[in-house]
Amino acid sequence: MNSVFLTGHGGNEVVQVGEQPLPTPGPGEVLVRMRASTLNQVDLYMRNSGAGITHQLPQIMGLDGAGEVESTEGDPAFTTGQRVLVHPGIAWGRCEFCLRGQDVLCTRYSLLGEHRHGTWAQWVALPARNVFPTPPHLDDLQAAALGVNHLTAWRMVVSQARLQPWERARWSPRVMRTSWTAPVP
Ligand SMILES: [Zn+2]
Repeated sequence: MNSVFLTGHGGNEVVQVGEQPLPTPGPGEVLVRMRASTLNQVDLYMRNSGAGITHQLPQIMGLDGAGEVESTEGDPAFTTGQRVLVHPGIAWGRCEFCLRGQDVLCTRYSLLGEHRHGTWAQWVALPARNVFPTPPHLDDLQAAALGVNHLTAWRMVVSQARLQPWERARWSPRVMRTSWTAPVP
């Protein structure tokens, strides 16, 4: 399959466009034909050094993406051709953090485009629980931007601070903390 992959670390000379083997879905995984993917700061980090990230070369780049389901063996709830977006953060599901619902703290957390092949390819195989139906009002490009880009903000505001729909958050860089306003009437 056609893909964009890293052959080393450095400048753009290590970014290659070419053939890589078609991924084979493992147990519980689905095969997604990619229609759109995004550029993340992490992609640049992986190109520049990838230091501290356990990975192999060549490494297919790309974290986020959207496309359609091609193989549904990993989860018959999906249908062939169904439009989906992918969440690139793959938790192990068995460590103490996973069991508490804190997937992002998983001791074996891995990410597409970092620890395993990413979305800058014609096909990606990943766990079915990381694949979500694309909302019908979004096209593939818009859906591709939903994967991990919002995750840090969501965890800060919703998971940790538990901001309610009637509350507002105000960023105050001078004190480096978030202050809360009175509920919106
Ligand atoms: Zn875990």
